[in-house]
Amino acid sequence: MSSGSAEFNALLKLSAKVGSDPALVQAAGGNTSIKLGDVLWIKASGTWLMNALKQNIMVPVQLSPLLEALQRNDPAAEKAQSFVVARQNPEKLRPSIETTVHAVFPQRVVVHVHCVETIALAIKSNAKEILTPLLNGFNWRFIPYAKPGLNLSRAISASLYQNNQPADVAVLGNHGLVVAGETVTQVSDLLSSVCQALRQPVRSAPEANVAKLQQLSEGSDYELPADIQSHAVALDETALAIARKGSLYPDHVIFLGEGSVIAQPGETPDQVVQRLAGANQPPPVSIVFPGHGVLMKKSCSKGAHAMARCLSDVCVRVSEARAVNYLTAEQNDELLNWDAEQYRQKLNKQSNRKKPAGQPSV
Ligand SMILES: [Zn+2]
Repeated sequence: MSSGSAEFNALLKLSAKVGSDPALVQAAGGNTSIKLGDVLWIKASGTWLMNALKQNIMVPVQLSPLLEALQRNDPAAEKAQSFVVARQNPEKLRPSIETTVHAVFPQRVVVHVHCVETIALAIKSNAKEILTPLLNGFNWRFIPYAKPGLNLSRAISASLYQNNQPADVAVLGNHGLVVAGETVTQVSDLLSSVCQALRQPVRSAPEANVAKLQQLSEGSDYELPADIQSHAVALDETALAIARKGSLYPDHVIFLGEGSVIAQPGETPDQVVQRLAGANQPPPVSIVFPGHGVLMKKSCSKGAHAMARCLSDVCVRVSEARAVNYLTAEQNDELLNWDAEQYRQKLNKQSNRKKPAGQPSV
């Protein structure tokens, strides 16, 4: 079987489908992989799954040396760059930061998504208890939050097997979902069943006050978000209460910064920016105006717009603001300062021109 095989193409098709559904994948988030012989084909860092049928988004990585590096705690495993099969990677794509997460699953096909239904449950401090009856009958594990990359793959690896049998579903605390199987069809079906089992009632938020938002944004560096759904976090009381307290999952921090910036009553975008400048903080990527809606920084990336919508989509599925687990100050910091951050920032600058390329997600 090769990268041109029917199974490989089926994975590309599934990747494009999953990547086009904002309830499963936002921007460059999520990733898919297939093991063909000793080569792990994994989504490239910064590419979007939704483009899987339009451009080459897959990178070949030598699996055995990568797993060996992982086992001896070699930091080279993190970026997996040194295990890329160069002759099959003419575009010099870089493997996803989550390559090792895919590598530790023994199954041939692995799909990792930032499913909003899953995240809405995986951010609860008693997530495992809530998930247990919902995932009854699945061979699943709950993995408490770990920094994406090496830490996360180690955490998965440590609890993947029971009685020598690997799980094929992993719910990642404050992060998302991984499903694995021997064929693309199996994984596709499993993904649908798990998402169905985790489906939550969705509260419909009142309508955004677009006229007020337009008035607020006039003459400022801020504009309306790409998706009307992004406003819900400002309009639904529970969603606002949840967002107010901090960061819920890694891509939020990477694209929108730590936590959410909420305007005080009567504040304009400029006044919010000034208030934050007084505390040595940069102008926020997005500002939540309670009762009105959300405004986004004009220069922000498409990924930031996708993450603004994701925040609302997650929060309207959480029934109460109580017992929500937030990323700690250290966890926020490690996301913003880790090694790949320079690369990320470079791509972020490129994606400021709103091309749907760039920013790697986790
Ligand atoms: Zn992820």
